[in-house]
Amino acid sequence: MASKTYSIFGVGAAGLYTAWRLLDGKPAGEGGKSKQLAQGDTLELYDWGKYDFSGDFPGSRAPGARACTWHYKDDKNSSYLELGGMRYSDWTGDNDGKAGGHRVVTTVIDQLGLKQYSVPFNTSPNPLFYLRTKNMYLAGITSANPAPYHVDHYGADDSPDTGFTTVELLAGTAARLPQTRVAWCEFYQHGKIEVDVAQKGQLFKDIGYWNLMFDQLGSEGFGYVSDGNGYTSNVINWNSAVALQSNNEFTPGTEYKTLTTGYSSIFGALFEAIVKLAEAKGVSFEYHPDMRLHSILKIGDGIRYAIATRKNPNKKSATRTTNAAWLAMPRYAIDLVAQATRYEDHDGLDVLNHQKVQLYLESAIMQPCYKVGMFFDKEWSTDTSNSALQYPAPILAYEVTLQVADALASQGFPSGYITVMKKKSSGILETPFSSAADFIHAVERAVGERLTVQQEEQLLAAAKRNTIGPSVTDTPIRQVVYFGNNGHDHGQNVFGLLASYDDEMYTGFWQDLELGPDRERKIPISDDMQPLDGPREAPPIMVKMLRSQLAAVHFGPQSDYTAVPEPLETRYMDWSLPPFNAGYHAYAAHYDVCDVQQKIRKPSQLIDGLTPTSSSSARPIPTIKPGWRAPSARRSRC
Ligand SMILES: Cc1cc2nc3c(=O)[nH]c(=O)nc-3n(C[C@H](O)[C@H](O)[C@H](O)COP(=O)(O)OP(=O)(O)OC[C@H]3O[C@@H](n4cnc5c(N)ncnc54)[C@H](O)[C@@H]3O)c2cc1C
Repeated sequence: MASKTYSIFGVGAAGLYTAWRLLDGKPAGEGGKSKQLAQGDTLELYDWGKYDFSGDFPGSRAPGARACTWHYKDDKNSSYLELGGMRYSDWTGDNDGKAGGHRVVTTVIDQLGLKQYSVPFNTSPNPLFYLRTKNMYLAGITSANPAPYHVDHYGADDSPDTGFTTVELLAGTAARLPQTRVAWCEFYQHGKIEVDVAQKGQLFKDIGYWNLMFDQLGSEGFGYVSDGNGYTSNVINWNSAVALQSNNEFTPGTEYKTLTTGYSSIFGALFEAIVKLAEAKGVSFEYHPDMRLHSILKIGDGIRYAIATRKNPNKKSATRTTNAAWLAMPRYAIDLVAQATRYEDHDGLDVLNHQKVQLYLESAIMQPCYKVGMFFDKEWSTDTSNSALQYPAPILAYEVTLQVADALASQGFPSGYITVMKKKSSGILETPFSSAADFIHAVERAVGERLTVQQEEQLLAAAKRNTIGPSVTDTPIRQVVYFGNNGHDHGQNVFGLLASYDDEMYTGFWQDLELGPDRERKIPISDDMQPLDGPREAPPIMVKMLRSQLAAVHFGPQSDYTAVPEPLETRYMDWSLPPFNAGYHAYAAHYDVCDVQQKIRKPSQLIDGLTPTSSSSARPIPTIKPGWRAPSARRSRC
């Protein structure tokens, strides 16, 4: 059999995962065997950027593309912040179709041996808000102390997330929402407004979520949800059917996990596994960083593509052929390839520019976002000895994890109590409690006995685990996330704070401060590759602006920026810049979303009269093991 070449463009999560599966997958049937990579075949990986995978494969920034761990002073032993993707929703492994969670991420972490570093990444049950210049903790929002919004039906007496539930009830009751992936697919296409409102009978998929929320909650109600939930991306005018499912994930209560080695470590480990597997299988592995796909055409049974260097990204540097190509890159990056291909003089098939392919690509709404990280030499946001700190970060929490249970067992804590606490049904395991009294009370109820003073002390000491916040504001920093002193070098006092996590609304606000005063723009924004270069140092004007907004959140509206100490280091990631031009994406209204998900993976399917052959511009990944899924276009943002 002739040897074959497979080409993957993009070495972010999707590209690396695809390479790994192609090398390690077990085909479901005989037909799949010949498609697998075998001895003598070639696997090539291209990326516009150059990530720091290892000593043998160094780069300008941590791996992971839209995930990017940044360590203080770039020292891997020091504290770190996540300036891109940062957490996953753990999957229990139940394969009944009903279990929630990010299956692929959970499984990859497990298979790569990284589970030992996986820890809860919980949000606070009692977050701090600073909205319309009013500071409030969630538990303090009541009818006597409402949020400063004129919401109908006393909506300001409650959490801003209540607005999500109000809209969800248009589908009937929460219990009537689908429970399985298959049922959600059905709902995306056929889910209707069930209750007696003016739009009764309309399909959710054909209504923009902003339109729907505004209609149901009114201007002030919408404003409260939009400001108070922290993510503008949740409330834009995206597909309402998908929003009903996805927004469930972002309300308080969802359990997230992360890795103590930093999120980028997943991608370093994946890359290492790929190199080893290719070597073991006799597959020639060719990695081309700083090299982008320029244009691509299907010619006969093969694919012809052109590449360009990072230095000169718009000019072809070579033309090559391959048997199959995967474009593991976001919509904007694909748009650039389509634009270059459109003007090629050719007799091949331009799959990317086919009208149906363009239509489906446009179903992804681009959502720019912005993160700024700061490191401090003290944890000023929780320092209650500072009387000026009126609103400390609400991050103190107690939680029993399996590791906590083991630690308690080794300290002689009663084994019967541990057995009860480890049961999910006890409501104790992996549930964060923000008050020590509530935590002890819940444990005592679960075990059916009073704890001794010594047991209480043991339990509180072992289960103390801070949450990440966040604090939420309507000022341009939008969300503050507390990472703390999380380096391996525990002797160091370096406290990380995501000083701003803004999506959609304020990227322009921060972008202007990137240059600062008395500086003209010299590089067009369309050529600014900051996300590929790595976290960029913030100028003093941006630092001052961040400090003043952080001060308002924690010290009140009358405070001065000097209330927040001068940080040790401040860097930003501007995810509105190329080649990403979005941190994440959402599905637009008026699409059959599951059809998009299935067909855009192999876009030649969308072209009438073109029977997919052994070669196409994008191939489906061979089915591997039950419980696994190929990377889908499902929106993932947190
Ligand atoms: C701030 C932020 C927070 C997030 N939070 C979370 C979270 O907590 N949990 C979560 O699950 N998800 C989160 N996400 C989303 C998640 O990070 C992304 O969905 C995921 O990383 C996308 O992976 P990808 O491989 O599809 O694309 P990308 O990571 O975008 O990788 C694409 C790669 O293609 C390369 N490329 C582009 N053009 C070309 C070309 N022409 N030729 C060759 N290479 C090219 C790029 O350089 C890049 O390396 C977040 C994202 C951001 C930005």
